[in-house]
Amino acid sequence: MNTQIKSDPTVFVIFGGTGDLNMRKLAPALYNLYLDGWMPKQFSIIGTGRTKYTDEQYRQTLLDGINQFSRSGKADPVKWKAFSESVYYQSSDVKDHESYKEFGTRIEKHAADWKTKPNVIYYMAVSPNFFPIIASNLSKAKLTQDTKRVRVVIEKPFGHDLESAKELNQLLANIFDECQIYRIDHYLGKETVQNIMAFRFANSLFEPLWNRNYIEHVQISVTEQLGMGERGDYYDGSGALRDMIQNHLLQLLCLVAMETPINWESDEVRNRKVEVLRAMRPFTADDVRNSTVRGQYAKGWMEGKEVPGYREEAKVDPQSNTETFAAIKFFVDNWRWQGVPFYLRTGKRLHQSASVITIQFRDVPHKVFPSETSESWAQNRLIISIQPEMSIRLQVQAKRPGLDMILNPVDMVFDYKGTYSNQTPEAYETLLLDTMMGDQTLFMRGDQVESAWELVMPILNTWQNKKSLSFPNYSADSWGPESAEALIARDGFHWFTLPLTSKK
Ligand code: NAP
Repeated sequence: MNTQIKSDPTVFVIFGGTGDLNMRKLAPALYNLYLDGWMPKQFSIIGTGRTKYTDEQYRQTLLDGINQFSRSGKADPVKWKAFSESVYYQSSDVKDHESYKEFGTRIEKHAADWKTKPNVIYYMAVSPNFFPIIASNLSKAKLTQDTKRVRVVIEKPFGHDLESAKELNQLLANIFDECQIYRIDHYLGKETVQNIMAFRFANSLFEPLWNRNYIEHVQISVTEQLGMGERGDYYDGSGALRDMIQNHLLQLLCLVAMETPINWESDEVRNRKVEVLRAMRPFTADDVRNSTVRGQYAKGWMEGKEVPGYREEAKVDPQSNTETFAAIKFFVDNWRWQGVPFYLRTGKRLHQSASVITIQFRDVPHKVFPSETSESWAQNRLIISIQPEMSIRLQVQAKRPGLDMILNPVDMVFDYKGTYSNQTPEAYETLLLDTMMGDQTLFMRGDQVESAWELVMPILNTWQNKKSLSFPNYSADSWGPESAEALIARDGFHWFTLPLTSKK
């Protein structure tokens, strides 16, 4: 977390240094940390991949990425020059264990130049197939032993199912201490997501209401207008449940449902989150039938353009059974949440791109005002909008100005844009800074990842073993299959959407 204390001198080794993630997110994030004064005085970024680049050529590719994707716009030539002098490139294949010695030599040289042992962060921005081989080769080259200074960042997806997640955890545990492992879920670095904890635990207002007595249900909705783009081959082996629910949406649920931590220690916060996953009701075969919905998009039109159906997308099996939409009703079986449904929904090619959590409070126990006074009665709602709009709204009933007593719902809004003039840091800036500072609060612990997999496995297995005969079952620019509406309507609710101002 931001403390204005800078980390010790740091060397980043970025596996996948020529890849999309580094170009679009990591390099711009590191550059913005530099601009904002968060980088330590002595740092070095070593990108690596098989592509042959000189340091100069590599710096130019990063500059192109930064000019295109940085939140601070095109790089200032003087500042870029100063930053880029700390950027290097090493061409190597992750499978070639000999080449790891070169990282050791470079790190030692930095240590000698800086006259101190630096923190070393190995960032795995490569295909998950390579996570084990990189970890093993780092270990063989004796680059992992300093548990205080050496850290490893693992990108998503962490495992393909429970068994593979356990295997990967085991392999990492043989090489690293848990305090060295940073499993990234970039959702946790988003400003609004961090603010869920600030809202809940820094205000006395919400806690008395934050339970089954006052909350009727919770909705967590992460919807996208985009289709596959270039990611068809990855996505077809994954699907909405693995790609979104198992990680991002369940993490959001944990933040809403967790108990109050006794302090801000990273393990204390993470313990409270794991407890939520452990309390979640396991799915029986009946639950999978009655409480889950899967969908796959058909071709259609989005904003005046014809778009292909999922099975017609590049690098997707034309008979694919992969879901591009999932809606699931979860329960958290503890005193606080008994009987309160948590509806999670995510999908591609939907009408709107938005990530929104809605907490719907129970209705008033007795209506004092006659029904004709309320034009559009709505129960109180707390609406946490993560993207594209960043806001927290409390929806309350109020009297409309005028001589007669007419009630309307109105919003009390905390809007980032209106409240703060500064640009908000990107999630990757927060998470990279936390990695440098050795703060694991916003990273997933091994047991947390396994608990999340354990929860979704019965759904995953049923969906995999039983092909959907109805696919494709929703059209582009819709809100998903009709059965998703039915899932929530059966309980007397409906999915909420925001009148958002911007689309993405
Ligand atoms: P990508 O664009 O395909 O990049 C893959 C990287 O791996 C390239 O730098 C490539 O470099 C390197 N690579 C491949 N084979 C290699 C080998 N044998 N030896 C050394 N380097 C090798 O993938 P990406 O989109 O950046 O994704 C990387 C990771 O981040 C994945 O785990 C992905 O799930 C995760 N992620 C990505 C995003 C995103 O927005 N892109 C978002 C969230 C998570 P060379 O070709 O030069 O060898």
